[in-house]
Amino acid sequence: MVHAPARPPAGAPPVRINLYSDTQTRPTPAMKEAMMRAEVGDEQHGDDPTVHALCDRMAALMGKEAAMFLPSGTMCNVVAILTHCQKGDEVIAHETAHILTSEGGTHAALTGAQITPLKGPRGMFTADQVRAAIRPRTRYAPPQRLLEVEQTANIGGGAVWPLEQLNAVAAVAHEQGWATHMDGARLMNACVAAGIAPKDMVASYDSVWLDFTKGLGAPLGAVLCGSSEFIGAAWRWKQRLGGSMRQAGLCAAGCLHALDHHVDRLAEDHANARALARGLAQIPGVVVEEPDTNLVFFDVRGAGTTVEELQRRLMLKGVAVSGLGGRVRACTHLDVTAPMIEEAVGHIREALAA
Ligand SMILES: *Cc1c(COP(=O)(O)O)cnc(C)c1O
Repeated sequence: MVHAPARPPAGAPPVRINLYSDTQTRPTPAMKEAMMRAEVGDEQHGDDPTVHALCDRMAALMGKEAAMFLPSGTMCNVVAILTHCQKGDEVIAHETAHILTSEGGTHAALTGAQITPLKGPRGMFTADQVRAAIRPRTRYAPPQRLLEVEQTANIGGGAVWPLEQLNAVAAVAHEQGWATHMDGARLMNACVAAGIAPKDMVASYDSVWLDFTKGLGAPLGAVLCGSSEFIGAAWRWKQRLGGSMRQAGLCAAGCLHALDHHVDRLAEDHANARALARGLAQIPGVVVEEPDTNLVFFDVRGAGTTVEELQRRLMLKGVAVSGLGGRVRACTHLDVTAPMIEEAVGHIREALAA
């Protein structure tokens, strides 16, 4: 059994137009410079000043009391759910949620929580659906503990939850005494697209995290935010999982640089995604979903080919896309320009005509 990531096919040229994922951005020269200049200490010991600066800034941005720097977004979800839940507790989430589909079963393996999936278009569900999922508090039912949402919803198409809907589902959870957690891997994309400040977007969520390795373009790092009590408790899990770091200020400096320079420009990624969707919609047999943010999902079965075959043909042209949930996913990000989008549409048209 092979679990390691696949390497590129032999004979493929280097990737020139990388729409595979917004995780594949390379740190810019200015970001690297900021990282090299960083003042550092021992993060695990609590004395890395750049990590403190990042956490203070993130707590303020999200309107929460405290924040914690972690190596990855996945570890933010794992630490958060371990902190909110006990073995046997129930988490309510969308059926396409990253915690359910893409974290290797970690919440069953490590927390021992069960995740109940809700359905709904574009990675979202309604307050009525949450209400319908409430169980009687008997010894038969699992203790319901946590409601989880993804903003933006990744497999949902990079969809942005409307603020009223985020607040409405959280209100049902809080009425029941459950906690609320937001997977904000691409939260800034949602805030820029909707024109809503992060602290307003996440106000009804007890914990929230932001990934710096997606559209924000940092090489690693994610920040989990919540109450001082929550973050205090989360530190035990960070330590247990080996997520406490040393001179992590090097990476935190890249994240601070991203907050200063890579947030407003997400609007360009969204414009490029819309241009890509418009171009793809002109290709016979392609069904494309209108993007809210930087993720463009399209179906090529009507063009008589498979996701894998299209990926293979595009790799030979130096263009990378991914497959997710039976569809093709193309991501725009800071290493993708408007001319590249135009070129990519041409290659996709050609590959589908072949
Ligand atoms: C990427 C992603 C994660 C995981 O983040 P990593 O930094 O890759 O561990 C979690 N949730 C969503 C919605 C994501 O897109």
